[in-house]
Amino acid sequence: MNEDKEYEVQLKLPIEIEQYERKIYDLKQLIEIGKGLNSTLDYNTLIESILLTCMGQMQLFKAGIFLKKTIGSEAYVLHRNYKGFELDHTIEYGIAVDSSLIAFLERKLRCYTMEDFVAIFGDDPAMNTLYTIMPTLIVPLQGKGKLNGIIILGEKINELPFSESEKEFMINISSLAGIAIQNSYLYEMATTDMMTRLKIHHYFQAALAEERERSVRQKTPLSLIMMDIDHFKKFNDEYGHTCGDEVLKNVAAIVMQNVRQIDLAARYGGEEFAVVLPGTTRDAAIIVAERIRAHVEKALVPCDGENLGVTISIGIAEFKPGQDRDNKSLIERADKALYLSKATGRNRVSFL
Ligand code: GH3
Ligand code: MG
Ligand code: MG
Repeated sequence: MNEDKEYEVQLKLPIEIEQYERKIYDLKQLIEIGKGLNSTLDYNTLIESILLTCMGQMQLFKAGIFLKKTIGSEAYVLHRNYKGFELDHTIEYGIAVDSSLIAFLERKLRCYTMEDFVAIFGDDPAMNTLYTIMPTLIVPLQGKGKLNGIIILGEKINELPFSESEKEFMINISSLAGIAIQNSYLYEMATTDMMTRLKIHHYFQAALAEERERSVRQKTPLSLIMMDIDHFKKFNDEYGHTCGDEVLKNVAAIVMQNVRQIDLAARYGGEEFAVVLPGTTRDAAIIVAERIRAHVEKALVPCDGENLGVTISIGIAEFKPGQDRDNKSLIERADKALYLSKATGRNRVSFL
């Protein structure tokens, strides 16, 4: 009898040790994942990193994430960075915030398979989006105790079902991801001008200072573009402030569409915009500025049944490390160039 017990203990130990080792490994992984997800506040970079983490950890090709577009949004929408799922890029895939499905996910932080959902919700219209996408696993995202999104995963590469420990691991990842998303979202909101979706003035100043330092350190060029809408008062006075706001939004959108992701477009003041262009010489910045100017000139802003034409004046300055000891001196040069554009007929690009 005694011998039997000893035998049993000897047999059990290695398995337990293996389980503990697995747990330690998983926890170490989670610490690394937590560190990784908290190291960026940039919303899109974070989403990319969450999806790649899920795919890497769970060994799968398909992953996506549903998030609210803004605080008051009525639906969770599939973020465009989704991986692997073959979907129509022109369609927005949404799940209504007030649907039975969301109420269900809010109740308990656990993963569900698509089969679980089919069994619970059947042909409830809230399921339409999931029936189109057909994920394998559905994982609620939570930040500070509240649902703030949904991760969806495709089948595993080895085609085996998700094990209980994998589901538990996914819940842990989603807890870390949920908090990181919440922080990044708040940061995004606090640094973005809600009307134009461009960065606010204070953020622009901080980014410009950072880019000046980088330019000195890495000996790379840096340019600044300043823009001002021509005769903007006229839009407000003749068509009202709503039309004025529409003009602002349209011009801001054109600026955004014509700069690279690493460039920083900001609303400098009322109807003035600025773009910081890292790694860009003055000559290259002139090409960008000319492209923006031409697109604005071509665009028509619909307002009150009319299509309004609008133009902008632009000034450019390249950062000179010896001369530009602070932001002010570089901004002043770009501003002077902008003034030159205004003084010589508007709707043009000048540089100093
Ligand atoms: P210029 O070609 O010399 O730049 O002429 P301008 O009329 O554009 O210049 P001015 O600086 O005289 O006018 C800018 C106006 O922009 C004044 C202000 O009322 C308006 N403005 C500033 N911010 C906003 C905004 O958020 N919405 C609206 N509708 N108007 C704004
Ligand atoms: Mg102005
Ligand atoms: Mg103006």
